[in-house]
Amino acid sequence: MSQSNNGFFNEFGGKYVAEVLRRPLDELEVAFNEAMKDSAFLEELSTIQRDYIGRETPLLYAKTATEILGGAQIYIKLEGLANTGAHKINNAIGQCLLAKRMGKKRIIAETGAGQHGVATAAACAKLGLDCTVYMGEVDVRRQQPNVSTMELYGAKVKAVTSGSRTLKDAVNEAMRDWAANPDTTHYCLGSALGPAPFPDIVREFQSVIGKEVKKQAAERNLDVEALIACCGGGSNSIGFFSPFIDEKNPRLIAVEAGGIGPGVGENASRMTGNASRDGIMQGYKSRFLLDEDGQALPTRSISAGLDYCGIGPQLAALGRTGRIEFTSALDSEALDAMKFFAKNEGVLFAMESSHAGAEAIKLAPKLPKDKAIIINMSGRGDKDIFITCPVFRPDEWKQFLVAELERLEANKDIHDAKKM
Ligand SMILES: *Cc1c(COP(=O)(O)O)cnc(C)c1O
Repeated sequence: MSQSNNGFFNEFGGKYVAEVLRRPLDELEVAFNEAMKDSAFLEELSTIQRDYIGRETPLLYAKTATEILGGAQIYIKLEGLANTGAHKINNAIGQCLLAKRMGKKRIIAETGAGQHGVATAAACAKLGLDCTVYMGEVDVRRQQPNVSTMELYGAKVKAVTSGSRTLKDAVNEAMRDWAANPDTTHYCLGSALGPAPFPDIVREFQSVIGKEVKKQAAERNLDVEALIACCGGGSNSIGFFSPFIDEKNPRLIAVEAGGIGPGVGENASRMTGNASRDGIMQGYKSRFLLDEDGQALPTRSISAGLDYCGIGPQLAALGRTGRIEFTSALDSEALDAMKFFAKNEGVLFAMESSHAGAEAIKLAPKLPKDKAIIINMSGRGDKDIFITCPVFRPDEWKQFLVAELERLEANKDIHDAKKM
């Protein structure tokens, strides 16, 4: 099941959208399939992957971590070294190039924590496209640094004030915009979910991760037992896993957000959680965290990128067949893993990626030394100082914020003068 069958991955997937969105989705599918057979397009993509994203990203042998844990050889795919700091740029660049090929000059995107918005804004800046990012008003307020970065890249950030004013509402607003402007606009969706053909498109543009890993592991003669990735919507995991799906080995392990515990509202475990149900939301059929009336439940995770009630349909299907094993890591386990790899390998994992790191710490000691496991470090943790500083150094962080505020107030006249 390395790709969809007419938009479906067994019982999951599909294209459950209003009539007005069928045409743009169908056109996108045709254009995508043509582009992937066009050697000029693939060449352009591979050049920009090399020169702008910085591919290929290294596969690092985690020597000290391996020695400490005393089992399987641990390798880390350093996807966080991609330009903009995470894997999301792979998809954003791919879709923006595709949009250009389709003659569209305007890109819209949804974003929750802001990472996909930042990646899309950067891709648009690079490719000379007009960019509008929809973001819930609540998220705009919570994620000011990312809003400011998107604006630096020249994007317009539109605060969405409907519903709960978060990611779900931003998606609805983006779909509405697309339905109104299908001829000029491409909707650059950020993870391996949504209506067909998005799960196939996002997987293909992220599959560069897995293709590189396959080559890098072969060059080093690794006997790979397992690939481990964190799983929000599922784009970094499915891209990492994709060249291996139809093979028997290695084991493919996806790690969901275990939050603070197994209770409803305490995590974002769509495959392993208590409130996990089949459902149809935002254009696709998959596993969701839903209440008995089919309404989305609140989720919780220390990592914004994993904090979502839905999961990509291909992941849900491969979870059900057992090809992908699902597990979860608690917030506290992710924080410990972040510290462990920073201290022992000099690699600062993003909070999301630290969930994969946590699973590696559990699994490695149970395996023999001649086996290898590979963690996908989907992003780097620089962006997470607003989460880690208050946890690791609460008092100092508070003093820092107070001092920053005072400095801002003291310099207010200067800033005001600059604006004029
Ligand atoms: C967004 C994000 C994720 C989660 O999204 P997926 O689509 O599941 O990959 C994971 N890691 C990082 C660094 C992210 O920014």
